[in-house]
Amino acid sequence: MEKQLEDLRQQLDKQCLINQELQRQNKELEQRLQEKEKLLQELQGDYPDHDFPSQSGNEPEVRTSRAAVIAPEPIPETLEITSTRVKKTVSETSLIVKAIQKNDFLSRLDEEQTAMMVDLLVASDFSPGDEVIKEGVEGDSMYIVAAGELCVTQAGRNLRTLTRGDVFGELAILYNCKRTATVKAKTLVRLWCMERQTYRTIIANKSKKKREQLMGFLKTSRTLKDLNDVQLSKIIDSMEEVKYQDKDVIVREGSEGNTFYIILKGEVLVTKNVNGQQKQIRRMGKGEHFGEQALIREVLRTATCTADGPVTCFAIDKEVFEETIPIEHLELFDDSKVLQEAKAPEAPKMSSTLRFKDLVPALYQEGRFQGDPVTLGVGGFGRVELMTTMNHGKYYAMKRVSKKHIVMKRQEEHMLFEKKILKSIQCDFIVRLYGAFKDTRYIYMVMEFCIGGEVWTKLKEVGRFDEPIATFCTACVVEAYAYLHKKNIMYRDLKPENLMMDVRGYVKLVDFGFAKEMLRGEKTYSFVGTPEYMAPEIIKNQGHDFAVDFWSLGILIFELLAGSPPFSSSEPGKIYPKILDGVFKYPPYMSEAAKSIISKLCRPRPGQRLGNTKNGIKDVRHHRWFSNMNWHKLRMGQVDPPTVRLIRKGPCYINFDRFPHDQTKADEEFSGWDRDF
Ligand code: ATP
Ligand code: MG
Repeated sequence: MEKQLEDLRQQLDKQCLINQELQRQNKELEQRLQEKEKLLQELQGDYPDHDFPSQSGNEPEVRTSRAAVIAPEPIPETLEITSTRVKKTVSETSLIVKAIQKNDFLSRLDEEQTAMMVDLLVASDFSPGDEVIKEGVEGDSMYIVAAGELCVTQAGRNLRTLTRGDVFGELAILYNCKRTATVKAKTLVRLWCMERQTYRTIIANKSKKKREQLMGFLKTSRTLKDLNDVQLSKIIDSMEEVKYQDKDVIVREGSEGNTFYIILKGEVLVTKNVNGQQKQIRRMGKGEHFGEQALIREVLRTATCTADGPVTCFAIDKEVFEETIPIEHLELFDDSKVLQEAKAPEAPKMSSTLRFKDLVPALYQEGRFQGDPVTLGVGGFGRVELMTTMNHGKYYAMKRVSKKHIVMKRQEEHMLFEKKILKSIQCDFIVRLYGAFKDTRYIYMVMEFCIGGEVWTKLKEVGRFDEPIATFCTACVVEAYAYLHKKNIMYRDLKPENLMMDVRGYVKLVDFGFAKEMLRGEKTYSFVGTPEYMAPEIIKNQGHDFAVDFWSLGILIFELLAGSPPFSSSEPGKIYPKILDGVFKYPPYMSEAAKSIISKLCRPRPGQRLGNTKNGIKDVRHHRWFSNMNWHKLRMGQVDPPTVRLIRKGPCYINFDRFPHDQTKADEEFSGWDRDF
């Protein structure tokens, strides 16, 4: 008995010890969990302009809402840098550079851009309690903390503290976005600040200067000297920067040559093998070039070129060069004649007989809005309503935009241009404009009614399109592009929201708010478009042209086939770094041909993009993804659109979302900007 008791006691003691150990482990785990949570909170507060993605990795988030657009701000006429350079000490420079390097977006700036940023940041001091940025207000500067502490709050909730070396508000240097958090000084604070206008001006200036300089360099090449500026500009668009370290051999004598180089920075030694000895022939510096022969014929290198110290070159491969030149074929559009001759089934010209007063709103026939005017869509700028004529012969879509709103958002030029372009366009793949009117409150554009609804709505209904539908929609866009580019107009706002279908399922571009007329060889520097569809050169402010339309075409194909664009996030700030990284994650069901056309359209260098190389848009049409497309029949309206099965039958507004009637009246506006509208 005694013994049994002793045994039991021993077992109990043992159990107690085990329990204690378990409790200790538990506590430790809890503590670790708390630490992790704290770290996570800190990390989430790290970028007041950013939310952390809910999904890990590069998984595209499903896009369930319409994409927001970013309207270009008018850029200053003269790209003069108004702010002055502020000298920085070595430790200040190192703090700034470190801050830039650890920031998601800024770390993508190149060396020169970073250096300019360091130069142009200006110091600004704040007292405890001062508000630096305010949630919900449009921002125009970004900041790096030089000293002191600031607190970040969102909807009154404390997010985190910012200290020396932290960056905030950086999205504002791209465009006038609303701040997503408030930042207040806790202590005395010194910040390094940069305004958007300064940043964009210096970057644009820099890119312009670089292009001009490269142009000058190219003109000294014997092989290229006969090419005109447009052609040389195209070559520049295809070239890439390559860096070499001291003693790196750039080209080796006797090897097969296939690249042409211009030296941007550093020096290159040219040597030749003479009787088994390397003999220096000459030394080349900035602006000089080598390897041009390789571009036009099969050659073996006749000398060795070695970097003497660090060297940066601008280079182009023969293969890419051949795609870009000879540009006597720059006549990009093979079948423009056919295009112009293709008869519009019944679309009348912009009619002088269509009178504003003859139009009456079409009304919902049933449902909860029965008896109210039909609204077809509400965009960032206006409302599109369904109108009909007195005798109910025809339907029209009428876009109505508040003049006050246009003036407030500084979009006068764009409105005037949208009307001017649409008026001049006669293409079956672009919505027709029948009349433009104005009164004291609104401007109105009366357009062909696309009864089939938006491609966006259909895409959301079915999740993703099968290949025949995606190919058909894209082919219609290609035809619209061919027409526009031939007229020197870039579209710049491609996305499923701006594609509408007619009664047969033919797809048409609508919304020319961002379109721009431009000469070949020119570049424009505005920040414009829809984040998900923006080409890298727009984000980098390097100057862009027609090539951005081909980039967005690739994005469109991806979104039509996958249901979501390749680079997306609920926070625009998260989208830009993804675009700059350019890593596509294709879903497993995507065909090889689709992946091929997307990757060719979405090449980072604009000059290498399918559609923007020497054969122009022909190359897009000839890509194997379109192997079943009869382009001529498409233009003639003789293809049976596979999209027809997406279109519902019923009242004429059945393919549209329904919107409540807008009873409000915009304020009157008399500044007179719309004189020519
Ligand atoms: P945002 O700039 O936000 O894209 P917006 O104010 O410029 O929009 P639009 O894109 O031209 O306006 O039109 C808004 C919506 O109205 C379209 O997405 C579409 O649903 C509808 N809509 C526009 N044009 C037509 C049309 N011709 N026929 C039928 N519906 C149309
Ligand atoms: Mg739109």
